[in-house]
Amino acid sequence: MKTFSIGGVHPCDSKISAGAAIENFPIPEVAYISMSQHLGAPAEPVVAAGDKVKTGQLIAKANGFISAPVHSSVSGTVKSIEMVKDLAGNLCKAVIIDVEGDEWMEGIDRSEDIVREIKLDQKEIIARIAECGIVGLGGATFPTNVKLSPPPGKKAEFLIINGAECEPYLTSDYRVMIEMPEQVLIGAAIMMKALGVTKGFVGIEENKPEAIRVLSGYSEKYPDIQIVPLKKKYPQGGEKQLIDAVVGRQVPSMGLPIDTGAVVQNVGTALAVYEAVQKNKPLFEGILTVTGECCPQQRNFKHRVGTPISKIIEAVGGVPEEAVKVISGGPMMGKAMCNIDAPTLKGSSSVLFLTEKQTKRKEEGNCIRCAKCVSVCPMGLEPYLLNKLGRAGRMDDLEANRVYDCIECGCCSFTCPAYIPLLDMIRLAKGQVMRIMRSRPKN
Ligand code: SF4
Ligand code: SF4
Repeated sequence: MKTFSIGGVHPCDSKISAGAAIENFPIPEVAYISMSQHLGAPAEPVVAAGDKVKTGQLIAKANGFISAPVHSSVSGTVKSIEMVKDLAGNLCKAVIIDVEGDEWMEGIDRSEDIVREIKLDQKEIIARIAECGIVGLGGATFPTNVKLSPPPGKKAEFLIINGAECEPYLTSDYRVMIEMPEQVLIGAAIMMKALGVTKGFVGIEENKPEAIRVLSGYSEKYPDIQIVPLKKKYPQGGEKQLIDAVVGRQVPSMGLPIDTGAVVQNVGTALAVYEAVQKNKPLFEGILTVTGECCPQQRNFKHRVGTPISKIIEAVGGVPEEAVKVISGGPMMGKAMCNIDAPTLKGSSSVLFLTEKQTKRKEEGNCIRCAKCVSVCPMGLEPYLLNKLGRAGRMDDLEANRVYDCIECGCCSFTCPAYIPLLDMIRLAKGQVMRIMRSRPKN
């Protein structure tokens, strides 16, 4: 079975929420809709306090090339526009809306009917995706319309849909694949039309046999899209690893996926693209897994963007007693929340509760030069060396050893028998080196 060629680890997948069907989470009484839900500059509000808004109405316009508009996820009255704390406790601008009913914008098709015929042309598809504020839902929240418009001189050859969901615990993509398979495939077909390519792949790890079975059932209807079962290995969902696994091409150091002819989009993004293009629905809902062994309920919720995470936690009975950390995302690459009152975003993927036993770091020992970190690094780096150079502040040597190629997957820390927090140091060093590289004058 296919997989990527260098490194990787096998953490227990802990997909204990896989059986939890997607449920609609109740609309909150007040929605806090962040202007910073995408990579790039925050969106610029186009509404003011006192304005009435409908569900799906534009409330903020994109502010620059790599930015995305934001739409209201609720109907009601704009209470204020103010700074609110995000998950990390950083302040960001948000439109706060007192919810009244749930009146949707005219023109959004709310029926369950599947719309198969793709009527829009290439340009119209990209424009619609931009207008609807679609961003990559695999973690990066990069505006999808930009990714579907390769820069001059680059040409897409195929599309890869990322159905790997290789992070332990997360199951929202899995549920989407088995509950809305045809919508995902139509979303993929729309993006293939936008890119002008005739070949598409959906890469799915072998621990999701039901998703592989269900999607493969559409092979006659969508013959240009091939379902590719993949061996379970983390971080298979990384763009570079997925391209290697599915088509055996390697993204060069400092290069982009498009250098291999590939454009990679996540399963959730494919669904959002389907809804934008075929149903005229902007991106204002998301699917989020609530999970953890200490959590009495395993759930997958469809939430309105801007719902306070504390409301979602209340719905499963509050923060479990044994939980010492609440993580947004998976345990490998997710971030610990320091503010559970923060609102959900377009890219919110999970609320994961971890116990002390699961999070306690063991005492750091000395490097025993076992090279395990080197053998698991999917980017072919030498983590023990980067750690040493980072601690010594040797920026030139860090750059020469390609610290900028680190994808922050955490495989090195996960495997180190001396419990050295390699990723923490490498991430810091990478940030410093990238700043130096960006500040250099361009020729
Ligand atoms: S895995 Fe840990 S102990 Fe082994 S070489 Fe790397 S840093 Fe050293
Ligand atoms: S975190 Fe960086 S250095 Fe460590 S294994 Fe992943 S890519 Fe390699």
